[in-house]
Amino acid sequence: MTTTTNAQNTVTAPADRNTTAPGGAPRSSAELIRAEETGLAHNYHPLPVVIARAEGSWVEDVEGRRYLDMLSGYSALNFGHRHPALVRAAHEQLDLLTLTSRAFHNDRLAGFAEGLAELTGLDVTLPMNTGAEAVESGIKIARKWAYEVKGVPRDQATIIVADGNFHGRTTTVVSFSTDPTAREGFGPFTPGFRVVPYNDLAAIEAAIDETTAAVLIEPIQGEAGVVIPDDGYLAGVRQLTRASNSLFIADEIQSGLGRTGRTLAVEHENVTPDLVLLGKALGGGIVPVSAVVGRRDVMSVLRPGEHGSTFGGNPLAAAVADAVIGLLRTGEFQERAAHLGTVLEAGLRPLVGKGVLRYRARGLWAGIDIDPAIGTGREISERLMARGLLAKDTHGSTIRLAPPLTITEEELTDAIAVVTETVTG
Ligand SMILES: *Cc1c(COP(=O)(O)O)cnc(C)c1O
Repeated sequence: MTTTTNAQNTVTAPADRNTTAPGGAPRSSAELIRAEETGLAHNYHPLPVVIARAEGSWVEDVEGRRYLDMLSGYSALNFGHRHPALVRAAHEQLDLLTLTSRAFHNDRLAGFAEGLAELTGLDVTLPMNTGAEAVESGIKIARKWAYEVKGVPRDQATIIVADGNFHGRTTTVVSFSTDPTAREGFGPFTPGFRVVPYNDLAAIEAAIDETTAAVLIEPIQGEAGVVIPDDGYLAGVRQLTRASNSLFIADEIQSGLGRTGRTLAVEHENVTPDLVLLGKALGGGIVPVSAVVGRRDVMSVLRPGEHGSTFGGNPLAAAVADAVIGLLRTGEFQERAAHLGTVLEAGLRPLVGKGVLRYRARGLWAGIDIDPAIGTGREISERLMARGLLAKDTHGSTIRLAPPLTITEEELTDAIAVVTETVTG
């Protein structure tokens, strides 16, 4: 693709790079991949590309080959690689203060919480680090709320979750996964979860009883392949949870922060959950930052000593997240995602029946089901890579496209051309 040599996007290599062998000779991609295979746990199956530097929508490998990043770190890079405002915020904070622990206050935390309240329309923030920790925290808060406020008998609280969910990798979180690969060999599992089909309000209604603490769902299921529920589903979950005095927890870790054309995906149905889980893009692709943001009366079930994290709310993370919130404040990125999403969808529509069985798209986010006749998702990802485009398969035959929201229309059009050539060629 021609844009891979676009001079505007040329990035210069830092002088000192940690890619050399002990002897001093630079190591090739092949050598680094071999060394990774020896020295790292095999819990991932990466595409065979070794990225050494990046800027905006572009990454460059050890040999200097350039690729357009259409995965964006599973939406952790919504603002592209090394967005200048985010890098500046990180640099400035590095020179001032990086960690205090929550044993003391730090001067960045209040602004971070105020920003999240403004962004979500909720009141109170619990800062954590990874997405899975935000999910775990949301579960703990919901259970405690169920016992202390709703009056559920001790240790009887249940949380309703959806089939096909992805909420992270901790033992409790995989306990309610429905993906055998995520669970096999990791039991015994945490009880207290009821799995219902996704996009099925009647199933939620049937599962709700006096033990229900919360309904925990992704407004759009990302890992499942960008599965979008019918209009009315999120509003229905809101109505069912309100009517049964249980909490609505929206996991917006992947769907939130601009990806779908709105700040939060629940905004498409004008819904305010009781707890919103954020992560991924909240750290600007620089540091891990996650949060539970929720209603004051619910969050207040946590009292000193009952929950915490050494790095949660550290000033470096808060400063970067504050800058991320600053980028989202103008609505510019949400509008870009909505506009470029129409471009993406117009490009995907003609592919149905020509290498693509079907696709689902909202904002700058699409899941494309590849016709098995033309190859597996992995094979298509490798063919895209050979043409200078990085994307990853999920669940065998689905390719997820989630470019940085900073991508230009021209870059996106080129990317669609590459996808078209790859699936029809
Ligand atoms: C990625 C993701 C998580 C887990 O986040 P980690 O930072 O990888 O722990 C949880 N929920 C959703 C919806 C996600 O996409």
